[in-house]
Amino acid sequence: TRDQVHNFAAGPSPLPTTCLEEASLGLLNYEDTGMGICELSHRGKEFKAVIEGAEADLRTLLGVPKNYTILFSQGGGTGQFSAVVLNLLAAHRLSHPVPAEQFQPPVLDYVLTGSWSSKAYAEAQRLCTPPFPNCPGFGQPRIAASTKSTSWTRLPTREEYKFSQDAAYVYYCENETINGIEFPPKQEDEGAFPFDLVPEGVEVVADYSSSFISRPIPNFSRHAIIYAGAQKNLGPSGVTVLIVRNDLLVDTTEASKLGCIPPVPITYEYKILADNGSLYNTPPTFPIYVSALVLKHLIKNKGGLEGLEKTNKEKAELLYNTLEDAEKKGKARLVVREKNARSWMNVTFNIEGEGEEKKFLEGAEKRGFRQLKGHRSVGGIRASIYNAVTMESVQLLCEYINEFCK
Ligand code: PMP
Repeated sequence: TRDQVHNFAAGPSPLPTTCLEEASLGLLNYEDTGMGICELSHRGKEFKAVIEGAEADLRTLLGVPKNYTILFSQGGGTGQFSAVVLNLLAAHRLSHPVPAEQFQPPVLDYVLTGSWSSKAYAEAQRLCTPPFPNCPGFGQPRIAASTKSTSWTRLPTREEYKFSQDAAYVYYCENETINGIEFPPKQEDEGAFPFDLVPEGVEVVADYSSSFISRPIPNFSRHAIIYAGAQKNLGPSGVTVLIVRNDLLVDTTEASKLGCIPPVPITYEYKILADNGSLYNTPPTFPIYVSALVLKHLIKNKGGLEGLEKTNKEKAELLYNTLEDAEKKGKARLVVREKNARSWMNVTFNIEGEGEEKKFLEGAEKRGFRQLKGHRSVGGIRASIYNAVTMESVQLLCEYINEFCK
């Protein structure tokens, strides 16, 4: 049963049981309508209340300022690798209304700290490739900093960042789910994202997919776009949350008329989504419904963002301390070598010794610990400890690690 396992999945990941219980009732008979939530029109009053409630609760939970719009979109985090490029190129084009012959495709600065930021960069490169000879292309993706040469085991130092003065935007991934790297939460912490080094007027975009609503977002208002797939801390996969500064909700058809850039595919245009309250086309109603239940639960029962931050910090500290002890005994090795760069959400490590990792996973499975295997691209062990993973589950995992070391 659900009570007998401890689910450490990286995503889709566990959701609060009480929310799933409520959702299972709503799936059959939503608020006594005799119809399930998936059987109701997305334009009816019931669903309208759900999506508006989700938006309002997210705004409260995260403290989203008034000059930002919250959007519910589809296509996952990966969809945003593309949408960010196209929407921001359009905004940039509108603010540079020079004749087409004089237009210079802008630099797009990417900070690479692991697999997901690398994928986002690769997509920017793909989209910006000139479609025919002598075409300058749409934009010039560039690496502003990268820790690839040290296998993504640390964050860049301040000296390593080389931002372009005239970039359309700087892009970073706040938490690298596969590698277990996260920017530390306080601006004074070593390794913190260097907002102060980003030239004035250059927009900042952040992928928060795997750390969304786990703790406050530092320097919120320095961001142009913050986005996250729901399937870690928020709800089922299928919905992607976007928080976009209002002046970047631009008409990309108008931008394309100036020449040099294409319009954005219609369901990916932020302005279209915003003008239609995220209901331009049929949204993923069930994932939005469950996300709405989770948001209510986090506000009411988990102490909001401050409560979540405190618990998540305690969980991460306990697990990292246990693994550091195991490392001293020569039994384990943490993947991320800098303490400040260690993710609060995805704890990555290896078990030392021939065949020991397999033994560790088998023992874990017997004790009810599930989905601990590292991502297929890097191997090892990954314990994801998102909001819905309880302190008790983390404590039991730590007991097992200690026992295994003996
Ligand atoms: N960014 C991050 C940080 C992720 O963890 C993921 C997925 N795990 C993605 C982007 C891609 O998201 P999706 O699978 O929803 O497209």
